[in-house]
Amino acid sequence: MTLRIYNTLSRRKEEFQPLGDPVRFYCCGMTPKFHPHLGHAKLFVTMDVIRRYLGEKGYRVRYVQNFTDVDDKIIARGLSEGVSAAAVARRYTDGYFHSMEALNVQPADVYPRVSQTISGIIEMIQGLIAGGNAYAPGNGDVYFRVASFPSYGKLSHRTADDVLAGARVTVGEEKEDPRDFALWKAAKEDEPSWPSPWGAGRPGWHIECSAMSRQELGDQIDIHAGGPDLIFPHHENEIAQSESFTHKEPFARYWVHIGQLNVGSEKMAHSLNNFTTVLETLERHHPVVLRLYYLSQHYRTPVTYTDESLVLARKQAEHLIEGRSALASLIAQPAQDAVKGSSPAPVRELASMASDLSLRFFEAMDDDFNTALALSRLYVFSREAVRVSQMRPIGHDPQAQHEALRLALTTFDHLVSILGFDLPRSSVELVRGERALALDAATIEAAIARRAELRRQRKWSEADAIREQLLTQGIVLEDGSHGTTWRRA
Ligand SMILES: [Zn+2]
Repeated sequence: MTLRIYNTLSRRKEEFQPLGDPVRFYCCGMTPKFHPHLGHAKLFVTMDVIRRYLGEKGYRVRYVQNFTDVDDKIIARGLSEGVSAAAVARRYTDGYFHSMEALNVQPADVYPRVSQTISGIIEMIQGLIAGGNAYAPGNGDVYFRVASFPSYGKLSHRTADDVLAGARVTVGEEKEDPRDFALWKAAKEDEPSWPSPWGAGRPGWHIECSAMSRQELGDQIDIHAGGPDLIFPHHENEIAQSESFTHKEPFARYWVHIGQLNVGSEKMAHSLNNFTTVLETLERHHPVVLRLYYLSQHYRTPVTYTDESLVLARKQAEHLIEGRSALASLIAQPAQDAVKGSSPAPVRELASMASDLSLRFFEAMDDDFNTALALSRLYVFSREAVRVSQMRPIGHDPQAQHEALRLALTTFDHLVSILGFDLPRSSVELVRGERALALDAATIEAAIARRAELRRQRKWSEADAIREQLLTQGIVLEDGSHGTTWRRA
């Protein structure tokens, strides 16, 4: 089966044929100016599934995701808090890792940062000036000359007039053409800056990704991904810069963009102050539920976030969990427990349904990563597993049947893992996990302190009761030589 991916550049699904090994995959990452919100997580969970699926198809993948750690808003936030921009970026880079780990998103192979790519950026700008694709008017800025790149607009399918209509020149800029954009900006007071051939300054946003992608993956890559709002101008500009500099086309073979996550009729965004962070959401919802919410729609479909949509996702998570535990209970059913004379047909059918499930799952995923369809196949199978388990059907040759069922369970677990789910083993575990989420660290620490005091007073049973209570809420205490630590079960 061949994998087909929708390419924003051609506006159609294309067969996936990578340039070589490994598959070179770049995704525009976070500007760490605050914790990631649900819109960001939609992008990163999607990329996580695409990456896992490519691995499943036998490709080695080198996945690169940057941090735009030099940015106006990071600088402004640092100034308002009286800390350095670097400290702000560090804090929210940590916030990113914390959020993604909770969502079971695999870490990138490398996370380049703008602040560590300055020499590569300057090298590219110099090359662009030398080739006539950029100019330094002498005010400390450098601009890309859009007129030098005739295919400008090919990704966003805009004509030169479309681009011109939306172009602005702000005071202080010295552009030859309103469509031109900054590659380097002269330093302003109180802002971080780096020395350059054009004076102290900092890079423009677009050149950063061209340089980081080139530094980590080379001149040409297979997949370049991001949010839909990046198609223009960010990705359009990246193409113009990279192809002008390397004289190699295409810069990226497949351009992958997700559908936007909206609140009401607007995009969820830090700038619109209508966002919910991942960490806030995970205080109320199990990470499996949030991941399932994202994957329940095709990744290119725009979605409108509501609290009710997570309630629905929770129900669907329960279907999967119940299906899995039904299968496990059928396997665990001892031979002597078998109902005499009952037909083994339902079990045989369930086992053959599992191999069919696998085919249909891959069929769905091969069609531009259709996780919604893949999940619907898993739900159908789960329902059937529950139905068969209620029949308690094992009657003939329990060993052979157990083997078939074990294979079905392995298949089910494998497919679920391709989607990146770390599924609770039962509905009880799901609930336990949710209760644990509601417990914040301060509450847990207070309970540990109370327990330590009870132990000092040799009130063992009361102390044990606290441990037991935390355990039912999914918190495991571990006593060591330096006191008690805790972890989520
Ligand atoms: Zn980017």
